[in-house]
Amino acid sequence: MAVFEKIQADNYEQIFFCNDTKVGLKAIIAIHNSALGPATGGCRMWNYRNEEEALTDVLRLSKGMTYKASISHLPLGGGKSIIIGDAAQKTPELLKRFGDFVETLKGHYITAKDVGIDSNDLKTIKSRTSHILGIAGEANSSGDPSPVTAWGVYNGILACAEKAFGSKSLKGLHISLQGLGAVNYHLLKYLNQEGAKVTGCDISPESVERARTEFGIQVVKPEDIYDVACDVFSPGALGAIVNSQTIGRLKCKVIAGAANNQLATESDGETLLQKGILYAPDYAINAGGLINIYHEREGYNREKAYAHVGRIYDTMKKILEVSSAEKVPTNIVANRIAEERVREAERARH
Ligand code: NAD
Repeated sequence: MAVFEKIQADNYEQIFFCNDTKVGLKAIIAIHNSALGPATGGCRMWNYRNEEEALTDVLRLSKGMTYKASISHLPLGGGKSIIIGDAAQKTPELLKRFGDFVETLKGHYITAKDVGIDSNDLKTIKSRTSHILGIAGEANSSGDPSPVTAWGVYNGILACAEKAFGSKSLKGLHISLQGLGAVNYHLLKYLNQEGAKVTGCDISPESVERARTEFGIQVVKPEDIYDVACDVFSPGALGAIVNSQTIGRLKCKVIAGAANNQLATESDGETLLQKGILYAPDYAINAGGLINIYHEREGYNREKAYAHVGRIYDTMKKILEVSSAEKVPTNIVANRIAEERVREAERARH
């Protein structure tokens, strides 16, 4: 595997391969960029098919964190780690050794939770490193990220609604939700308070039932969600759902939701612009969890954290204004803003 070929194009700073044969630990920590601050991002444990797939994943994820932190004006860089293996087989010894490796980086990388790693695992990792955020139940904990992510998404939707429909109010707007899980359940509370009309779907009958009984939403089959004539389509389940197959079906003016990596390709952003659909870049609108966790570093204060997350409204407004003034897709505008902030920090460093 030609590692430098993989990391040079996007200028990754450092990749650490961590091994402890005795406990079966094979992990990779990737630091994409630390110009803005310590590289921060969760640890994912996954049974990758091979090492190349694992490296590709950690590189992609760590770069995403650079953009998410930068667009959110956080003094954090982009990093991520992966442990190769079946999460069901993990042992305390393996997690502790992972913690040891994180500790050797002396805070240059800060870890947190991701797929396959839960709060108990974080506690075990914390027994070996202090460079860790987001442990539920601890004194300074920022708690469950889903409600605050929903608060950020709601504020992002407000900015989109103002631009697309001329009013910040969601009253009477028709919003369709793909997924009725942790984030969208909390988003529903805000939409309900505002008097929006909601249509939703989920593959989980329990999630559908909860949304229907608590909020009286209309329900459609998961495969029909792209055909719902609505004002705002809010993806909150899967990635790559905005693609050449679905864009032609969408009958909305705005796409704004929590899901990661919504566009299958960057060029789908251009297609949306041509179609007059306003797209809220995913990593900007769903950054509430990261912003919230960042506040643990300052001594967690819920009010301050929520106020900070609420500023996703301003971030989104700026992206939309530049996009419409320059006729550049919103995803490209967001990338430009995020990259410029990183470049400025790099200039200051040199
Ligand atoms: P979740 O697992 O609680 O909810 C996702 C829901 O989508 C589940 O109820 C699942 O049944 C449903 N789903 C799966 N496939 C579906 C399909 N084909 N059609 C319709 N529904 C389907 O996850 P979550 O924490 O609510 O996160 C939702 C999205 O937001 C994910 O993409 C996640 O990566 C992203 N996100 C979450 C957070 C957070 O704080 N939780 C932060 C940033 C981004």
